[in-house]
Amino acid sequence: MAEKLVILGGGESGVGTAVLAVKEGFDVFLSDAGSISNEIKTELTTLGVPFEEGGHDLETILKASLIMKSPGISNHIDLMQQVRSSSIKVVSEIEFASQFTSATLIGITGSNGKTTTTLLTHHLLKESGINAGVAGNIGYSFARQVAETKRDVYVLEISSFQLDDIHKFKPEVAVITNITPDHLDRYENDFSKYIASKLRIVENQTSNQFLVFNSEDPVLIEALNQLNTPVSKISFGFQQPTHEGTFVSNDQIIIQLEKADMMIQTNQFQLKGRHNLLNAMAAVSVARLLEVSKDSIRESLTSFMGVPHRLEHFLKIHNVNYINDSKATNVNATYYALDSVRSQLVWIAGGVDKGNDYSALLPLVREKVKAIVCLGVDNTKLLEVFSPVVEVIIETQSVDEAVKIAHKIAHKKETVLLSPACSSFDLFKNYEDRGEQFKQAVRNL
Ligand code: ADP
Repeated sequence: MAEKLVILGGGESGVGTAVLAVKEGFDVFLSDAGSISNEIKTELTTLGVPFEEGGHDLETILKASLIMKSPGISNHIDLMQQVRSSSIKVVSEIEFASQFTSATLIGITGSNGKTTTTLLTHHLLKESGINAGVAGNIGYSFARQVAETKRDVYVLEISSFQLDDIHKFKPEVAVITNITPDHLDRYENDFSKYIASKLRIVENQTSNQFLVFNSEDPVLIEALNQLNTPVSKISFGFQQPTHEGTFVSNDQIIIQLEKADMMIQTNQFQLKGRHNLLNAMAAVSVARLLEVSKDSIRESLTSFMGVPHRLEHFLKIHNVNYINDSKATNVNATYYALDSVRSQLVWIAGGVDKGNDYSALLPLVREKVKAIVCLGVDNTKLLEVFSPVVEVIIETQSVDEAVKIAHKIAHKKETVLLSPACSSFDLFKNYEDRGEQFKQAVRNL
């Protein structure tokens, strides 16, 4: 008899899993507590997968022998408490899909820089002629691609929620970009639980597999020191390591691996900021481990143009540089944005505060920020922390007004930076919506 799989969540991970599961002969049921889009309903109907929306039928769900929980569903909801106390095995989408592919898997996780590093790594591999796919939070789900496309390599962007329900998942190369506090609401406000979740990416790796990690990150280093793993470790950072690793010296990225040293001029790289150099070091390390040629890496590093809403330098008006960093939804991302700007700047910040500690930003704000425009419903914390160090702080709830104010304050050769350090849900649909509205408001000037 076919194995009973229940899929929780009717988004792209859910429906992608349904496509793969049907192909692999599972008896599938999909359940979503919210509403499912018409497009997905049509797809499920065509697949012959029964589904429910607007609630979970516990009896049906508890008959499953396997449950795929979509990453957006919290373990704290009643249903998950019941499921966890039963003996039903729960898997994430990457766990499920990875069992049905023999492709080489590259898994990229971290608090910030996942998407950028994933897309850059994919770019380096693809441009060298490798038949590589990219999945995770990007585009079509990994499960759908495993069902529908034949790839030799997958570059996967992996969130901590995907790692929470792995059992055998074992990437050939794992990358951890950094670990800073984020999403703590899903980890009982316990940073150590979030760290442990990120480190699960190495859990099943063996001695002939690799972990590429950020040697600049004290939290990550401390956690790795306590971890007993046979995996081969390759570091990246600004200091030359005593072991194998990638570093920067005299404006060159140097890859110091067993086989060869290789150098790339950093000025050939289009993306700005120290954080993007870290992302580049991670990506080129992976490419070298997959034996992409030096020339190919050099060439494709130059042609990578970055990802929208991540420190996106998109327009200059009257010699004022406008940067859209709407994806900066935590303090660490904003730290790197402020760090990367070389001029005085007007900083547009705010939104839904996730328990932010802004103190790390104070030195940079003192040095560079001439005015702050708070774009959020509740700006109390920003006002409290920054009014002692910045003279001009203005509140607004309109992106058009925020841009007009910033435009008035910024002089020639200065910068207007949207880097909120907060989520967008108070005034916008999501970070993309915030970024698009910001860019449109700037274009309207
Ligand atoms: P993620 O997928 O982990 O959210 P993104 O690549 O989408 O990461 O970038 C999210 C935000 O973090 C952007 O504001 C970006 O400029 C910033 N960022 C990118 N890479 C790093 C990094 N290595 N360290 C800190 N911040 C980063």
